[in-house]
This record gives sequence, C-alpha cells and structure tokens, in this order.
Amino acid sequence: MNGVRLDPFPPVHRQGSQMATMRENEASAEAPATPETPGPDSLSPSGAVDPKALFLGPKAENQPFFMEMLDYMMDDHSKWREYFHPDDPPAVTEADRALPAFQETLLRTRQTLVELAGLLQVHPVPWFSPRYLGHMNADTLMAANLAYLLAMIYNPNNVAYEGSPATTDLELEVGRELGVMLGYDSQSVWGHITSGGTVANYEALWIARNLRSAALAAAAVIPAAVAGKSPRALLGLPPAALLDLLDKARAAGATDALRAASARGRGLLATGQELGVVIVPRTKHYSWVKAMDILGLGQDNLVEVEVGADFRMDIKALRAALADLDAAGRPVLMVVAVVGSTEEGAVDPVHQIAALRKEREAAGLSSFFLHVDAAFGGYARCAFLAPGGRFMEPEELPPRLAASATGDLGTAWPSPMVYAAYRAIPEADSVTIDPHKLGYIPYAAGAFVLKDRRGLDLVSYFASYVFDKADDNPRLLGSYILEGSKAGAAAAAIWAAHRVVPLDAGGYGRLIGASIEGAGRFHAALSSAPAFVVGGKRYRTVTLTQPDLNMVDFLFHEEGQTDLSAMNALNAKLYEGCSSKGGPLYAGEFITSKTSLTHEEYGDAPLPFIRSLGLPESEWRRVGSVFVLRSSVLTPNLAGSQAFAAYWDGFLGAMARALAKAA
Ligand SMILES: *Cc1c(COP(=O)(O)O)cnc(C)c1O
Repeated sequence: MNGVRLDPFPPVHRQGSQMATMRENEASAEAPATPETPGPDSLSPSGAVDPKALFLGPKAENQPFFMEMLDYMMDDHSKWREYFHPDDPPAVTEADRALPAFQETLLRTRQTLVELAGLLQVHPVPWFSPRYLGHMNADTLMAANLAYLLAMIYNPNNVAYEGSPATTDLELEVGRELGVMLGYDSQSVWGHITSGGTVANYEALWIARNLRSAALAAAAVIPAAVAGKSPRALLGLPPAALLDLLDKARAAGATDALRAASARGRGLLATGQELGVVIVPRTKHYSWVKAMDILGLGQDNLVEVEVGADFRMDIKALRAALADLDAAGRPVLMVVAVVGSTEEGAVDPVHQIAALRKEREAAGLSSFFLHVDAAFGGYARCAFLAPGGRFMEPEELPPRLAASATGDLGTAWPSPMVYAAYRAIPEADSVTIDPHKLGYIPYAAGAFVLKDRRGLDLVSYFASYVFDKADDNPRLLGSYILEGSKAGAAAAAIWAAHRVVPLDAGGYGRLIGASIEGAGRFHAALSSAPAFVVGGKRYRTVTLTQPDLNMVDFLFHEEGQTDLSAMNALNAKLYEGCSSKGGPLYAGEFITSKTSLTHEEYGDAPLPFIRSLGLPESEWRRVGSVFVLRSSVLTPNLAGSQAFAAYWDGFLGAMARALAKAA
C-alpha cells in the first residue's frame, strides 16, 4: 500500500482500549486510565475533512486502509480474549481441529459465506457510485463501518448499562452532540439513538401525548397547582409550563399518583378529554399515520396542512387550520414541521411556525408541542455552524457553496427561507434526525432529541424517586425508550463518525455541502438541458421545484403533450430503464428512484407544476397523479464542474438511449 502507516494507537485510544490498558497495567501496575471525553459544551473536535478520505470509494480505492484497520481490530480484539485469564485452558485444541466434523463445519461456514456473497450481488444496489441517484442512501463512512464491526464483535446491548458499559455512554454522548448541533442547551437536552426516524417520531408523540394527559390528571392529583384552570386551558399551556407542572407534582411527592391518573395508568380516556389533533404538512412521512394508530390517538385526528408549489408547509394554511380548530373547540396536541421532506427534500418554515406559536401564546390562545421531523435534513444544520457550534451569519457561510451559487448553480444555497428555518430548529421541543441518511452511517441509526430532559419522566419506567436522584439512571436506556435490546454497535458507529467528521461547516457541512452542490448542478443542468430529439419528437427535462436540499425531482415531457396519463406512462417506462430493480448487473447506466404525487396525498400542490408544462387543469382533475423521477444526490462526488460534466455527458447519452426505447 501507499507507504504511510498511521499509528493505530492514538493517545486517547491507547488509554481507552482494554487491551492496551492491560498491556500498560502489566508494565506499570497503575490504575486504568479513563478515556478523555469532551466537556458538555464542546462539539466534536474541529478540523476540515477531505471527503475523498472518508469512504471506501466508488472503486474501493481506500480498500488498503480499510483492510489495515480490519486487521488491527481483529488483532486487538483477539488479544483481549487471549489475555482474559491467560491461565484458562483453550477450549479449541489441535486435536479438535483435526476432527473431520470440525473441518466440515468450517467448510460449511465458508461455503455459506461464499453463497451469501453471491446472493448479495444478484440485485445489488450500487449506492456507492455517482451513477446512483436514487434513495436516501450513499456510501457510508469508513470510520462508521469499521467502528460498527469492531463494536459488533463485543456485541454490546444498549438496553441496559450492564450489557454495554462502553456503548451506552457513547449513545448518550452522541445524543448530546446531536442536541448541541441542533442548537439546544447542552445541560438540558437529551438525545439517544433509535432504529430510525420512524421510531424517533413515535417517541416524540409518546412524550407529547403523556405531557398533555398528565396536565389534565394534575387537576385531580395536585389541584392547588392548577386552581382556576379549566381542562381546556390546561391543554393549551405551553410545553414548558406543562413540564413545570410535573416539577410541582414531584415536589409534592405526587409523581406516581400523576402517572396513575393519566393516560399511562388509566388509558386515553382517563381524563375524559380529547388530547388534541396532530398537525402535519401534506409532505409528511407515513410514520405519522402509523404513530396516530399505535399511540391510540386515531388516524382521523391527523390534520394535514396544504403545502405550496415549493412543497413547504403553507403558513397561511396552518394559521387557517388552527383557527378552524379553535372555532370547533378542538385542542392541538402537536405541530410537526418537516426539515427535508422525504419525496422533495422541502424544508418547512420552522421559524414561522415557532413565531406563530409565540403569537398565539401572547394572545391567550392555546399552545402546542412543536416537533421537527428532520430525519432527512437534520445533519445539514452542520453547514451553518462555525467550529465550536455557533450558528453563523449568512455572510460567514463557507465560500464554497456561496461561490457555486453565483456560478453554475443558478441559485444560492441556502435560500433565506432555508437559512431561517435551520436557525429556528432549537425553538422546537423535539427533533427527529437520522444518522443513516445525511449522517452517512450504516443502518440502523436514527435519533430522537428532546429539548428539555425533564420530559423523559413522562415515559420513564423508573420509580419516580429513582429518577429524581442520580444522573446515572438514564443509562438504563430500556426503561424510557420505545425499543428494548438494541445494538450498541450503532452508537459506536455514530460516535466514531462524529470524531472523524466534526459536526460543523468544516466537517459534515463540507461533506453535505458537496452533495448539495452536486444536486444543485444536476438541477440546473436538467432545467436548462437542450431538447432530446427522438423519432421526430422533442422531449425536455423539467424539474419539479428548486430543491431546498439535495433532492431533485424531475420528469421528461414531450413538447406539446397535453395528456397527463401519456406523460406519466413515458416516465414510468424511463424509470424501468434506470432503476436498480431487475436488470442484469451492468445494465443500469444510471439509477434513480421515483414517486407519484397524487391529489389524494398532496391536494393541488402539484397543479402549478402541471400547468407550467402546458397541461390543462382538467388533466390533473382527470388523472389525479403525476409520476416523477426522484434523485437523492447524497454522493459528494458530483461537486465541482469537471466531476459533474463527466457525469452529465454520460447521463445525457443514457437518457437519449432510454428515450429511444421508451418513446
Ligand atoms: C426517512 C424519514 C422518516 C423515517 O425514517 P426511517 O429511518 O426510515 O424510519 C421520517 N421522516 C422523514 C421526513 C424521513 O425522511
């Protein structure tokens, strides 16, 4: 390999590694040193990263380094086993090894792995390639993959501290790092790792539901604290005031009584009051529909607010929906703002929603729990952070994106709206963020972040007196999360990624910035591409909307075509030619995903787009659905005009061939 051999034992790890600690103890007989961890206010250490050194690479270019670390890891782990009570006799002896059954067992293992390797390549998804512009996955960070493998051999279970003394702490540390990155106070925030954004959304609604129910129960349990407040007024209290009520209950020694009198004890009808509706934008992820079902709130109580032609929640429509609910006397439990919608990458105006909530509270109208579903877009907040975590002013943003904005990209990123929305995220009460999307971490890695850790009490299965005292108890994760046994390896993977790629503009900001730049180039090129001429017909590529993040939706339109079903059929055929489903290994020249924007889900949000193509509104009414190709551009390898140009030429050729087949 390339000559340079890194010291695999940097000082901190030399202290932290059990193996190394043992070696040192043998020599010096000193007490084991504890690894250094950053103080509560610090983000991960800063320093710019080179995206080219982060991944195995589209051609496995960094395989030598990967193998070197694999070797080191297996060696370190094996030595740990050896050194654990060195006087214990080995369980596998040379005589065992000589037995035919032993050899056959190894042979079977080998054959099985060879078979699996084959199976995994039958319909593989080449997400490492810049040709893959499909779903929200891309190459994953070497640091995360290696850390996952290393931790996996130790098989830690983060459900309880006993099963994972190292990785439970890493999970809580990662939760705090994400909280600080999202703009929360490091002392009061709490976060942890979930299997994905879906479960994080469930946890948010679980806490919001129990908070509301506890407020109503307070009238029975600590009446003095809520004297003179009607149930309706209690439901409308701001989340912070509801949390203060929990404190009062605790001070009165009534926490358990409050739990028993709320939905947690007696069920949803405990207090005889509707807990309220949940408001989401039309672009919501379907996990919200499931959440309403699972938490017993009822799918009918999910209220969808219209989105504009930009697919962002329409703040006027939200205001109107709230007014309607006020008039009907119905409380609002939660409003969800989406930062990076799953299908369009659209960013809702979090700042406007937070301002609207303040305005309502000032006017004596009911408040609500504000949750930001940033499963997709959350990590992009790093692009706005100076080293140390300060949210930068617009003019301080990294020149790379700003410069490309004035050049090939056509438009600036971020738009003032996107900037303001990201700045306002810490006004929300909780956030969902997926490390397995823009964090470039292997599955399963989502995260839930709660602004005010007092809210944990609402889902805790500790006796209240335990929860009162020690900071230690939150290490028993299983007692106040939705899941039970869970991989500590996921925590190790995210923790390692955050060490290598700092959570600021020079780290993740640079990596995600490169992918946004690539998406911007793709969008600009699609918007201005010359027409394809096939069989005397002219086809143009048209983009759905200016993306807020690295997601580009587009379609092919035959000039003069006014039949929406024919247009949908053409694009569906094109998709068949460029999807990762089916088809032999090397056939897919270019891989995208697709989605249908339907009237049922989106209302009339797609209508302005349909009209811009010259199709009459009657076609939208008749067909009620538009098929678009959807490209999640997560690769950092399309940034830069040269890298992009090489790819774009190939794309044009592939599309011309696909059109010739489909048209
Ligand atoms: C992906 C996504 C989810 C669900 O996350 P999973 O990790 O797939 O469970 C929720 N909300 C949004 C906006 C998403 O993009």
